[in-house]
Amino acid sequence: RVAMTALLQRPADIIAKPQAAHHPKIPLPRDLFAPERRNSRGVEFGERAALDHLLAEIAAEPTDLTPIADATPEQANAAVAAARTGFAAWSRTSAGTRAAALEQAAHLLEQRAPHFIALLQREGGKTLDDALSELREAADFCRYYAAQGRKLFGTAEAMPGPTGESNVLTLRGRGVFVAISPWNFPLAIFLGQVTAALMAGNSVVAKPAEQTPRIAREAVRLLHEAGVPANALHLVTGDGRIGAVLTAHSDIAGVVFTGSTEVARTINRTLAAKDGPIVPLIAETGGINAMIADATALPEQVTDDVVTSAFRSAGQRCSALRLLFVQEDVADRMIEMIAGAARELKIGNPSDVATHIGPVIDNEAKQRLDAHIARMKTEARLHFAGSAPAGCFVAPHIFELADAGKLTEEVFGPVLHVVRYRAEHLERILAAIARTGYGLTLGVHSRIDDTVDAIVERLSVGNVYVNRNMIGAVVGVQPFGGNGLSGTGPKAGGPHYLARFATEQTVTINT
Ligand code: GLU
Repeated sequence: RVAMTALLQRPADIIAKPQAAHHPKIPLPRDLFAPERRNSRGVEFGERAALDHLLAEIAAEPTDLTPIADATPEQANAAVAAARTGFAAWSRTSAGTRAAALEQAAHLLEQRAPHFIALLQREGGKTLDDALSELREAADFCRYYAAQGRKLFGTAEAMPGPTGESNVLTLRGRGVFVAISPWNFPLAIFLGQVTAALMAGNSVVAKPAEQTPRIAREAVRLLHEAGVPANALHLVTGDGRIGAVLTAHSDIAGVVFTGSTEVARTINRTLAAKDGPIVPLIAETGGINAMIADATALPEQVTDDVVTSAFRSAGQRCSALRLLFVQEDVADRMIEMIAGAARELKIGNPSDVATHIGPVIDNEAKQRLDAHIARMKTEARLHFAGSAPAGCFVAPHIFELADAGKLTEEVFGPVLHVVRYRAEHLERILAAIARTGYGLTLGVHSRIDDTVDAIVERLSVGNVYVNRNMIGAVVGVQPFGGNGLSGTGPKAGGPHYLARFATEQTVTINT
């Protein structure tokens, strides 16, 4: 971090700018790349010895990486039929019973932290810090949905009875939910989808990404062990073709999907083309996520937050920063600082505790990113290119674009695109962000209240982060999900999520 410290000098003209009243306490840059600050239970310990102990436990974990055969269409259909049977009993269990199973799952996850971290690293390519955060998020989902579920499904809600009748509203499961999850959060999003659907009283057929079936298999075993009956939860492995079999099945009652906008559209079309009941889709997709940094922003904070948002997890988060708008007055200095900080990142083996950026998920992803970088080299100005070892690694890159319209699709990797803007043209860049059609995350760095308020009000974006980084939404704290091309809107880890998995019934009795 020596070079970074040298770059963290604020130019005199920025120091002289007035401090904001609206954001008096700007959060300190959090060093998210410092695993030694936390242990597997999220408690700070700060002792190298404890970290070494955890690392030794992880290293000693055996991991079965033998390939898992894809399910056949017959097996996928059989899983739906079995889940249909499982639904009858599971939907009649009490909310307390279902919540207890989820809480037990959270407990087991934490108990087996080294096992899951090893799997996340070896199958998912996660760095230690990313694997720890993911494990915590997975346990948080289980506990949060258990707590929400007790409230929502535990007791029927008495409605007013102005005419003397009794009106009671209850929520209950819809039937068989198909849960299709991505490889970038193979444990947290997998478990988040599945536990939400289960808590609401549905049975589930889960289809994980074809790149990460072993983590999903372990998560399903864990839920079964925690008390979810075998027939209420089924795992079906395979690629998009098996997902298509599941979504086309006539006996499913809902689909929850996280992945690309294109696949969400395909699923939507499949559901719409079926006869029978209308089947809801809960979709969380991608984004061309922007951050706007004006001349009043704290440059060292912007630097830290941009590097975290664009490059952490090798940029393989749907929340990640893709398009940074920097006010012209400070752009040169800001880009120089960001490049300086990016230069400090270590890329390589995710099991090495010093690594900041691990591999991208597979060769196909690498080839797509390499092609994008090659194209950018001819169309944009290269400010920074890191170096990556041979293999499935992509080094961080920073390009400057003449205008935002040049970036037309989500680039799922460590590539940051920067655009300069003049203060009087703020409206133009807001229009450019709106024109992408996406609405997942947005970062704003400014110490002028009116600017922040105007930007937040103008854009329809699911998660807005002001004067901090824009990734790592915390369950129950920052409900997560986007609008427009970024998804159908329900917020994972939020108080309204479970209701989207349920049907509602009002019973009116003439007493
Ligand atoms: N919830 C994650 C975050 O806030 C992103 C989820 C995703 O990439 O799908 O960073």
